[in-house]
Amino acid sequence: MKKTLLLGFLLAWVALPGGVAPDAVAALNVVVTTSDLGVLVRAVGGADVTVTTLARAGEDPHFVDARPSFLRQLRRADLLVEGGAELESGWLPPLVNNARNAKIRPGASGHFAAATAAGIALCDKPQTLDRSHGDIHAAGNPHFLLDPENGVRVARALAGRLAQLDTANAEAYRRRAEGLCETVARRFPEWRRRLAPLRGRSVVTYHHSFDYFLTAFEIKLEDTIEPKPGVEPSASHIVSLMARMKRGGVRLVIAEPNRPSRVCERVAAETGAVLLRLPLMPGGVEGTEDYIAFIEHWVSALATATPLHQTGAVR
Ligand SMILES: [Zn+2]
Repeated sequence: MKKTLLLGFLLAWVALPGGVAPDAVAALNVVVTTSDLGVLVRAVGGADVTVTTLARAGEDPHFVDARPSFLRQLRRADLLVEGGAELESGWLPPLVNNARNAKIRPGASGHFAAATAAGIALCDKPQTLDRSHGDIHAAGNPHFLLDPENGVRVARALAGRLAQLDTANAEAYRRRAEGLCETVARRFPEWRRRLAPLRGRSVVTYHHSFDYFLTAFEIKLEDTIEPKPGVEPSASHIVSLMARMKRGGVRLVIAEPNRPSRVCERVAAETGAVLLRLPLMPGGVEGTEDYIAFIEHWVSALATATPLHQTGAVR
């Protein structure tokens, strides 16, 4: 019986077009919470991993609607990769509890919280923890992957964890991570050069989504349309913000495509600013399918944002 099965397998194999072997089965099944982590795991894991992303690219990562497929995907995972820093604290913990998969529980080797694992220095850590105001950045700002240097840190830490879980492919994980790091190191000076006209100038964003990108390229954040992360803007906050924008000549507003249009458009229109809609996560917009393309998309959009190039128009 065994011989018959073996013979059947061999016949099926040689009968494949061109006599090639069937696609190798990936060694690790990785589930990631958001697509920025997904592109990094794909870059480091290559064909040795399969990647499933839970949140849709355009979804607010703080408030992801859990779908029935999530539990099934988490149950089968060898590794769960989350941003950490409380980004997913509103929706992920009950799913991990209910997935009945000991491999991906916090503290297990199959659980990777990027902020901690990569030693990311979070900005805006609150002095005192006060959730009564609805602040959803209680551990500090968790949107750190738009800083390419943080992407590098996470890629290296991911390579270490994948190597630990799959020792046979350890060298391939490290090689791919170093390849990504070299590309970032090569592109970073060029990105900085293209964004040099914006250095020291101020912009307004809807949420504190882009602070790490702005800091990496020395662009100032005047303020956010939200008075605090996760808190809807009041009329008085908007009036005060627009007055400051006019005084300071702030001519650019940046918001993710899913932020409320009316308030973003009003702030831009009443201050003579341009509203740029840029994605927080890769994959939702064409041409942002990998990490380098995603950063390039941002640099390209900002480098051609007209008001920022009008001499004297922006401080
Ligand atoms: Zn946030």
